[in-house]
Amino acid sequence: MSQNFNVIVIGAGPAGYTAAIRCGQLGFSVACIDKTLGIDGEQSLGGTCLNWGCIPSKALLDISHSFVHASNLAEVGIEINSEPSIDVNRMMMHKSEVVSKLTGGIQLLFEANGVTPLAGTGKLLSEKRVEFTPHDGAVEELTGEHIILAPGSVPIDLSIARVNNDNIVDSTGALEFDEVPKRLGIIGAGVIGLELGSVWARLGSEVAILEALEEFLPTTDQRVAREAKRIFDRQGLNIKLGCRVTGAEATDDSVRVQYLIGEEEHELECDKLVVAVGRRPYTDGLLSDDSGVQFDERGFIFVNDLCQTGAPEIYAIGDAVRGPMLAHKGMEEGVMVAERIAGQKPLVNYETVPSVIYTHPEVAWVGVSEQAMKADGEESKTGMFSFGANGRALAARDSDGFVKVVADAESDRLRGVHVLGPQASELIAQAVIAMEFGGTAEDLGLTMFAHPTLSEAMHEASLSVAGHAIHAVNRRARK
Ligand code: FAD
Ligand code: AMP
Repeated sequence: MSQNFNVIVIGAGPAGYTAAIRCGQLGFSVACIDKTLGIDGEQSLGGTCLNWGCIPSKALLDISHSFVHASNLAEVGIEINSEPSIDVNRMMMHKSEVVSKLTGGIQLLFEANGVTPLAGTGKLLSEKRVEFTPHDGAVEELTGEHIILAPGSVPIDLSIARVNNDNIVDSTGALEFDEVPKRLGIIGAGVIGLELGSVWARLGSEVAILEALEEFLPTTDQRVAREAKRIFDRQGLNIKLGCRVTGAEATDDSVRVQYLIGEEEHELECDKLVVAVGRRPYTDGLLSDDSGVQFDERGFIFVNDLCQTGAPEIYAIGDAVRGPMLAHKGMEEGVMVAERIAGQKPLVNYETVPSVIYTHPEVAWVGVSEQAMKADGEESKTGMFSFGANGRALAARDSDGFVKVVADAESDRLRGVHVLGPQASELIAQAVIAMEFGGTAEDLGLTMFAHPTLSEAMHEASLSVAGHAIHAVNRRARK
């Protein structure tokens, strides 16, 4: 006899575990299946984000940032009597401790909300049946009144630079080096390439990042992208644009990467090569032919704005469906689907999904850029304020970057906010809230901000939209 649940979730990453917890809170019986759960007792609830994505990468980014910070303290009179050095093993232990704490926390939340974790692989069959293959047992059939697919994503392979998990690695491998590579090559100057490049460059690697596109961070505000590239190159990321990688040969102790810039042939020799060319939906073996669920033209599970697939009571969320591949986007979708199953009417506002690149300075934005509005034939007005004129940023010796506010030319409604600067990941939340409430640039300008704070740059940039920032010489508001 098959086991029945109100809701079966396939995938325990941030999208899946959030959906499962919310379903549990709403009183449903829930099973959450994950294929990496329980393997060698090592990998656990939390999917990519907790185990080999957001959290471990931020642990390494924060430690490597502290390392750089410690190295520069003499400039402000703090003398440490020897040069700081890095114990990579200890750093990795810290990373693992953070991961374990958080994945253990999800386990506790599952217990508290009556969610049954199932370690193994799930496959959606027809008529709301799920084939569950445990790691060490006979195949079982489960039935669910509602099924939520949250299988996430995996790194895209490059046939010309195959990952060998030795000296050619993907993002997971680059979070696990046991020493600082002397020369590190990275293919792809996207979010992951930049973050991982930053970690190892800060710790002493000579980094080169090869990017196929001619334009750096093409979906980011172009002024932010230009300034960010200048700063990252100064930090030693050595970002080469317009590089077509044609091959990579691994030998015992190095990797030789061949690439073309235009028709000109180049070669990069490095000790480790990271392939960071994006991620793809992880739907291998997820659906039977008669599951009734379709893919879109890019290979993502097809869903509408409510995350409904074409098949009744089957939903899909997270990285495996359209939209940005971000943990918080998947979590919001998880909550929405759970509450819809319970008969509530929530929506996800896809216009206010914040994006962050956790470099230093950080890059964060929400909404659209000035360039995107122009391309769509929409008129905007903008305001900017530099952290170089912000007292708190100067006091902290952290004043690279600026805030740029983009508002609708007619209504003044906020359409986008772009931050390059210290703690941009935290600052952007203010813009998300303002936009969520339909705020205008004037609304942010009329709001009082504590002094001295980095947030004042958000305030001043908003005032600058109307041409009256206080701590800047204003140009007239630009239309
Ligand atoms: P995942 O987290 O990928 O989880 C899916 C789970 O489902 C996995 O455990 C998988 O094994 C399991 N699964 C798949 N198929 C099956 C099946 N058939 N049966 C059973 N189980 C299955 N995002 C951010 O928002 N902020 C960041 O700072 C950030 N940093 C990142 C850094 C790195 C290095 C990487 C790689 C990613 C980062 N991301 C970040 C992206 C973030 O990790 C993903 O957007 C997020 O994990 C997606 O969540 P998800 O639940 O959709 O899928
Ligand atoms: P993201 O999608 O943010 O993970 O970024 C991946 C980056 O890798 C993008 O900037 C892509 O343009 C880049 N990229 C993809 N394929 C290649 C390739 N073959 N060579 C170099 N860069 C690539």
